[in-house]
Amino acid sequence: MKAHDGMYIGGQWRPAAAAETIAVVNPADERIIAEVPAGVEEDVDAAVRAARAALPGWATTPPAARGWSLRVLHDELAARKEEITATLVAELGAPARFAAAVQTAAPIAALEAYAELAGTHPFEERIANSTVLLEPVGVVAAITPWNYPLSMIVSKVAPALAAGCTLVLKPAEDTPLTAQLFAECVDAAGLPAGVLNVVTGYGHAAGRALAAHPGVDHVSFTGSTEVGRRIGALAGGAVKSVSLELGGKSANVILPGADLPRAVAAGVGHVMANSGQTCYAWTRMLVQEDQYEEAVGLAREALCEYVVGDPAADATRVGPVVSAKQRERVRGYIAQGVAEGARLVAGGTEAPRATGYFVEPTLFADVTTDMTIAQEEIFGPVLGILRYEDEEDAVRIANDTVYGLHGGVWAATAQEAVAFARRMDTGRVDINGAAFNTLAPFGGYKQSGVGREMGAYGLREYLQTKSIQL
Ligand code: NAD
Repeated sequence: MKAHDGMYIGGQWRPAAAAETIAVVNPADERIIAEVPAGVEEDVDAAVRAARAALPGWATTPPAARGWSLRVLHDELAARKEEITATLVAELGAPARFAAAVQTAAPIAALEAYAELAGTHPFEERIANSTVLLEPVGVVAAITPWNYPLSMIVSKVAPALAAGCTLVLKPAEDTPLTAQLFAECVDAAGLPAGVLNVVTGYGHAAGRALAAHPGVDHVSFTGSTEVGRRIGALAGGAVKSVSLELGGKSANVILPGADLPRAVAAGVGHVMANSGQTCYAWTRMLVQEDQYEEAVGLAREALCEYVVGDPAADATRVGPVVSAKQRERVRGYIAQGVAEGARLVAGGTEAPRATGYFVEPTLFADVTTDMTIAQEEIFGPVLGILRYEDEEDAVRIANDTVYGLHGGVWAATAQEAVAFARRMDTGRVDINGAAFNTLAPFGGYKQSGVGREMGAYGLREYLQTKSIQL
């Protein structure tokens, strides 16, 4: 696959400072498809300088004009959507249909929404004798994970640019090719040099150097809670603002009276999408004890739909996980689930294919909240079904993790479901399979993060407030 051997800095592809490269592996066949440079402090420093130099011009560009630039960027991405999808299939192993709809089209649409918002969001308001100005926070470090490469980039770059900030993006080492394509689109869209810079590299080197750089004003990080904690401490020490989108262990609560087959099928689908590598996946399904065995049977049936295979094939619903490391991690959790006494209903640790980092879609019943698989993020196609006695018990179990990113509630009436959702310690809840809303705030309670992404709330993360009294 085509890859750049340099960094996109100051509107140019510049040679990397060090010779080390990162091999990009296709997780479906384990072949190396490209090499990208492993960035070091020097690359990061050059990128931050370029972003700083571009800041005064971009911050004072009228918001509507920034929105217009985002619209041009949107058009560039839309024109290359097939290429983006093919890249996502190759470097992530996302099944083609899913990659096209969810990994490509959805973030491109989100970018358009931000283009609109840049022109309509109030960057100034009056409070009695004060004028309150919402000004760009400055140079942003955007550090993204591999699981939704383009979505994660757009969810940071689009609001930051709309707000008038400039950025340095450090994409995940497993999926740098989508980020390079994104930089090509930024370039083709004619955005001013330096408003977006991309440094590929490892987290412990380029990522750490970027988060710690004194020329960075705000760090926007999406990834594991473990790394997020470190970045939060670093930013706190330097008194920089930070947004952290971290892990999840979300509950899908099915209340008696809900449409059980629909709720169970949707719950299975939520976890199997993207091979279970979704931070907000409903990895814990909660079912009342009287309906428990029926739900387990329905989940087993629903799981049959999730055909594992070559991500490029149309029939494939579940591709590989991203890397050998992730496959071992997921298998380890499955083994632990068995060892701790959960009932393995489907799947397991056996590999469904000889090559590629595949994991069999796995279903556990008799999961209790004290088990490791009910507490820790597995990040693979593994669903656990827990039983509850009554509503109080369901609330207790739903809230019994360190995370609080997302959740689902299914009930006979929306009113009943909303009443339950109000009691959940989580940042976002979907009722009875409601559609995903890209304008609604997304982010975590508890250890799932700090700050919000998407829509106007996402934009606010990149603005700081000044009040002028008259
Ligand atoms: P990760 O934390 O290992 O890496 C994320 C990014 O941080 C990568 O770009 C990596 O290179 C970089 N990084 C690693 N160590 C660093 C350091 N010391 N300093 C600076 N940067 C560093 O996470 P991952 O394995 O790529 O992604 C999976 C995790 O992301 C899961 O826990 C998942 O839940 C989470 N996630 C959360 C959301 C959300 O919105 N809450 C969305 C997607 C993924």
